[in-house]
Amino acid sequence: MSVVPDAPAPLDFIREMIKEDVDANRNDGWVITRFPPEPNGYLHIGHAKSICLNFGLSLQFAPNARCHLRFDDTNPTKEEVEYVDSIKEDVKWLGFDWGDHLFYASDYFEKFYGFAVQLIEKGLAYVDDQTPEQMRVSRGTLTEPGKPSPDRDRSVAENIDLFARMKKGEFKEGACVLRAKIDMASPNLNLRDPVIYRILHAHHHRTGDAWCIYPMYDFAHPLSDALEGITHSLCTLEFEHHRPLYEWLIQSVDGLPSKPYQREFARLNLTYTVMSKRKLLRLVKDGLVSGWDDPRMPTISGIRRRGYTPVAIRSFCETIGLTKYPGLTDLALLEHCVREDLNRCAQRVYAVLRPIRVVLTNYPEGKVEFVELANNPEDESSGKRLVPLSRTLYIDSDDFMENPSAGFFRLSPGGEVRLKYAFCIICTEVVKDEGGQVVELRCTYDDATRRGVKPEGRPKVKGTIHWVSAEHAVDVEVRLYDRLFTVAQPEADAGEDGDFTKFMNPASLEVVTAKIEPSVKEAAPGKVYQFERVGYFFTDPKDSKPGNPVFNRTVTLKDSFVKAK
Ligand code: ATP
Ligand code: MG
Repeated sequence: MSVVPDAPAPLDFIREMIKEDVDANRNDGWVITRFPPEPNGYLHIGHAKSICLNFGLSLQFAPNARCHLRFDDTNPTKEEVEYVDSIKEDVKWLGFDWGDHLFYASDYFEKFYGFAVQLIEKGLAYVDDQTPEQMRVSRGTLTEPGKPSPDRDRSVAENIDLFARMKKGEFKEGACVLRAKIDMASPNLNLRDPVIYRILHAHHHRTGDAWCIYPMYDFAHPLSDALEGITHSLCTLEFEHHRPLYEWLIQSVDGLPSKPYQREFARLNLTYTVMSKRKLLRLVKDGLVSGWDDPRMPTISGIRRRGYTPVAIRSFCETIGLTKYPGLTDLALLEHCVREDLNRCAQRVYAVLRPIRVVLTNYPEGKVEFVELANNPEDESSGKRLVPLSRTLYIDSDDFMENPSAGFFRLSPGGEVRLKYAFCIICTEVVKDEGGQVVELRCTYDDATRRGVKPEGRPKVKGTIHWVSAEHAVDVEVRLYDRLFTVAQPEADAGEDGDFTKFMNPASLEVVTAKIEPSVKEAAPGKVYQFERVGYFFTDPKDSKPGNPVFNRTVTLKDSFVKAK
């Protein structure tokens, strides 16, 4: 089963491998996956890839499948309840459900402690008093083996005692750590006696002050998987070198209810944005965006507020597929998936972003006619609406050129253009203010060119533009969002100082007052529209109100990235 309505189930190396396991009836044919975010920031579109994979598998292999949501909350200093709440909301919004399978690694602290004691008892872990700097040096390099710590051969009894005292809070942070005793000469640095417990005198958002020693991710993660009966632990490529440690722990600890295995896939990297939570946090903390849900952010809450849909994101994740090699995905592909979905569901309206007045000099004063327009030509059931048309209109200033360049088929002095779904007009006069700015166009309309009428022997009018009736139009705030960065790879291009913020696009937000047809005045927040010929727009969930709508540009109709001049 696919996570996109009506699409076939995708095939890739991970799904093939899992299918083989199921066909061979390994784990009694069950597929149990997990999505394990660390609650230290908001989720981003990269996480959506992992969510769609893990939860998607639980749908694909149902009913003998499920996916857990597990908070990897082993680092108390960076975690907050706000993040936990936002992560749950985002996973649900994407369309997935963990059912009763919500877990926190912190729920296993007592069990982890027991496993650590067990390793000590087996002679597979020891307390090391070296300073972090000494440990770093004695760990060796890729070309040189590490040197054993002077504490490596402490007796089991001494280690048990020291570890218990670490737990009791007798030592300061950094005074000592618990290390797994594996192989100081291993070519894999992760196996050179990795630290598995550290002292942190910190308050934890769930366990409070009960603990002052906390397990490391590499220790907690495989053991959490095993405790929950996870069958397939899927993570991103940077954990590939940690896999031997994952396997070592699963083999070395007795009494685990299951023996999961880990496989890796390439993380999503997207052009014109940054993705790591640390960098996103910096944008928020430094006030470079309005918050985690700023519609320019690649966070799920940002793109939700911008008007991206869950269907579009799931379809994007399926389109990019899974690979074993790092790659870079063009933001244009994501935008394409968004357009595809919005095209199906967005109500069409007329809006003029940069208005210029047009007076139809031969149209009767005071007359108003109503043009019947389809709400969505892709969906007949969406019905029709009446849009007022009168003597004074607004058109977009982009649709007029005083000195038209070759190939410009819209309005120009003496030129003719079709007003969409109405009739053709000819520009007879250009009115300017003292500064030479065009303030009004005077035009005549041709009644013989109304919709459905084909006058004989008349040259075809090439351009068609949209319009709104001036007396009926409503003024609305429109936020024109564009890419957050001016370069495709801000992190890679940042160079020595690593300061990616120098590539922030100063034109990533422009606010205009647009003239819009009256039908949308009472629009509810969180509703998507297509402004015909312009793009897709979404009434802002926070700032928009019926009677006073505020629109976010979700995406332009075509790929048209505006870089700052
Ligand atoms: P970041 O590097 O953005 O801080 P992270 O890997 O530290 O992300 P976690 O909360 O640990 O974030 O991630 C939860 C899960 O999401 C992990 O299994 C991780 O592999 C996956 N994940 C994170 N970023 C991406 C990405 N860009 N593409 C695919 N999966 C991702
Ligand atoms: Mg992480």
